[in-house]
Amino acid sequence: MSKLGRMSSRSRVAVVGGGILGLAHAYVLMRQGHRVMLFERGPKASGASIRNFGMIWPVGQPAGEMHSMAMRSREIWVEALAQAQLPFLNTGSLHVAYQEEEADVLREFAEIGPAAGYACEWLDREELLQRSHAVRPEGLGGGVWSSTELTVDPRRIIPGMTEYLQSQGVEIHFSTAIRRIDLPLVESAAGQWNADAAIVCSGDDFATLFPETFASSGLTRCKLQMMRTAPQPDGWQLGPALAAGLTLRFYKSFQICSTLARLRGRIAREKPEYDRWGIHLLASQTGDGAITLGDSHEYGPEVDIFDKPEIDDLILREAATFLYLPDPRIAQRWHGVYAIHPTQSVFEAEPSSGVRIVTAPGGSGMTLSFGLAERTMRRAGFQ
Ligand SMILES: Cc1cc2nc3c(=O)[nH]c(=O)nc-3n(C[C@H](O)[C@H](O)[C@H](O)COP(=O)(O)OP(=O)(O)OC[C@H]3O[C@@H](n4cnc5c(N)ncnc54)[C@H](O)[C@@H]3O)c2cc1C
Repeated sequence: MSKLGRMSSRSRVAVVGGGILGLAHAYVLMRQGHRVMLFERGPKASGASIRNFGMIWPVGQPAGEMHSMAMRSREIWVEALAQAQLPFLNTGSLHVAYQEEEADVLREFAEIGPAAGYACEWLDREELLQRSHAVRPEGLGGGVWSSTELTVDPRRIIPGMTEYLQSQGVEIHFSTAIRRIDLPLVESAAGQWNADAAIVCSGDDFATLFPETFASSGLTRCKLQMMRTAPQPDGWQLGPALAAGLTLRFYKSFQICSTLARLRGRIAREKPEYDRWGIHLLASQTGDGAITLGDSHEYGPEVDIFDKPEIDDLILREAATFLYLPDPRIAQRWHGVYAIHPTQSVFEAEPSSGVRIVTAPGGSGMTLSFGLAERTMRRAGFQ
């Protein structure tokens, strides 16, 4: 049995990384009674976890283990947010169809999805318009309603969850880049700590800790361009978070649909520029009323430091086909980067006894975080 497997309650555990995976692991460890130290190299977390939509999106996970993990994660999210007194929007989601091929996929998903565990149903045009006043009626064919999606504002939740953990006794060390773990030693340039075990959630940093493990891992990066409007006027509410037809070729849940190939073919023929930049359209709302819009996917170890106006234009062009906003003006633009593995939904490794790397949940880290942390505990044999 590995050193991790011998951990009992009140073990001293170092968690590296102050993004959502680090926080979720710290939360689950703390709840199990362990003494937790969390190290973040920045003065605050500024990686993928504060740059995302804040969508807890079980409906996008493939049926089976990943969907179950997402649902368990959702449950812990709700519990953790309540304990930390942090807000979230329990909005559910709508996937909208304007073309015949999109409607075919969504109808099929609504037919076979419930048996595979998805809480989803087909809505015809009128029913859908009753659920959302943000969806454009012209050409709308219907869509799928799913009740399980939540939205959080990552810029508020990540610091808020960190403060909550600190208030519960988790030691938080900002501006502390861990450069070596040789248990019981955990070392930064400024100090050393003793730990019985370590969980490394270092996002897309493949160079600082265990570079040999990362070098042979197959991991790469994905860059996403994002935009946000100013808060919408007069307290206007988006309602359910929205996804459109391009999304159906992106989330693995829809791969159970035999009709997906036809939709993929049509997009490839008619909108190759959307395939080229891996663009699909999601819209969520933050507590202040702003609408977050995205995104694109550029893969490779090297991240272009410059954003592409062409990608933003394509995103906005597609958004205008289905989304009505009282004030569509863009107030902020940014990009985010996450680690991703070509074949594994999450990358895990035990580079030395007592140390576990857990990273690269791809575009699903917010959704999976807490469920994944519980799985780490089980796999590592924490009691
Ligand atoms: C634009 C965008 C939109 C997305 N939208 C969604 C969404 O709506 N829903 C969803 O489920 N997922 C979404 N994702 C994916 C999700 O954001 C990521 O999967 C998740 O944030 C990854 O979390 P993480 O903790 O692994 O990485 P990060 O958030 O990048 O955190 C890693 C942290 O580790 C720190 N670190 C690294 N090395 C060290 C070291 N040696 N010592 C100390 N600290 C270190 C870094 O400074 C960093 O803060 C999105 C991602 C992006 C980029």
